[in-house]
Amino acid sequence: MGAPRAQVPGVVLVVSSYGGRRFTQFLLCDERMLLVDSGMAGWVGERIEPQLSATGLSLMRVDFVLNTHADVDHYGGNAELRRMVPGMILMAHRADAPLIERWGCMVSERLGVHERCGQGYASETMGWLETAAGPSTRLDVLLRGSEVLRLGVKREVEIVHLPGHSRGMVGVWDRSYGVLIAADAALGRGMVNEAGVLDGPPPYFDVVAYRRSLRKMLTFDFQWLLLTHHPVMNRACGLRFLEDSLAHIDAMESVIRECLADPEGPVRFRDIFETVETRFGPYAVMPNELCAPIRAHLEDLRRRGLAALVRGQKDDEPVWRGCGEGVNATDGRR
Ligand SMILES: [Zn+2]
Repeated sequence: MGAPRAQVPGVVLVVSSYGGRRFTQFLLCDERMLLVDSGMAGWVGERIEPQLSATGLSLMRVDFVLNTHADVDHYGGNAELRRMVPGMILMAHRADAPLIERWGCMVSERLGVHERCGQGYASETMGWLETAAGPSTRLDVLLRGSEVLRLGVKREVEIVHLPGHSRGMVGVWDRSYGVLIAADAALGRGMVNEAGVLDGPPPYFDVVAYRRSLRKMLTFDFQWLLLTHHPVMNRACGLRFLEDSLAHIDAMESVIRECLADPEGPVRFRDIFETVETRFGPYAVMPNELCAPIRAHLEDLRRRGLAALVRGQKDDEPVWRGCGEGVNATDGRR
């Protein structure tokens, strides 16, 4: 686990490992302290608090806690924080708030997407996810993005809405240090393990929003780009990663449109899934999460008149066909 890395000015990184992946929470300290993300249930006591005290910081001094989005590794420590730091103010974007506050909502609106595509999580995985989410905890402040938090006389940080991975995904822009904390708002070609090897699909749920958020991040004059599951990126590396994330969206779209152009007629969702996984995988961890971006692309193509859902209501497996001209070609939407 080790001590917090102080390699980024103005931010204490709480870095730890789980299942071979890197997980980071971020602490911004000034007159007031902002903790970005609370990890999974149990991590506040086991990982965050010990790492902070190792650098002489007290968890009790935390004023604000921001959950960047509704995934268990970003909000599961909320109940524990509420208990250990009763005075802290807990915040998240209003679009993700119901999912963070209610497990049932998380299951039906986010995790259930894969099940509706015919590839739900195994029941043990669902059980594990529910435990990692911790007891439901009420948020204090619901954000819209663009709010400014004053951490000190000369230090203001801005909440940045970066939807795509989730509707309420937010980052933090700390202009005074040139640091953009983007958590999971940029996903590259997928999730990677600590050795940097691709091991999971890039779980974006809305193509248009995700593309827009990546382009928005490119406009920031950041010196450091901080993501939850990746090592610290300097400006050059961060810009490359954002461009790479955009390129991957285009590559995914192109492969899905090739599938839809099948001369033999409509294609089953599972066949599209297999083709995409073969082209971009294999994925050792939660391969079913590839459903979300594929579904997002199909919905995007449908909105653009380039795909139609043939079946898929009720119990029928989703079956899609391409429509319009040139279903095989990308149209340079970047
Ligand atoms: Zn994450």
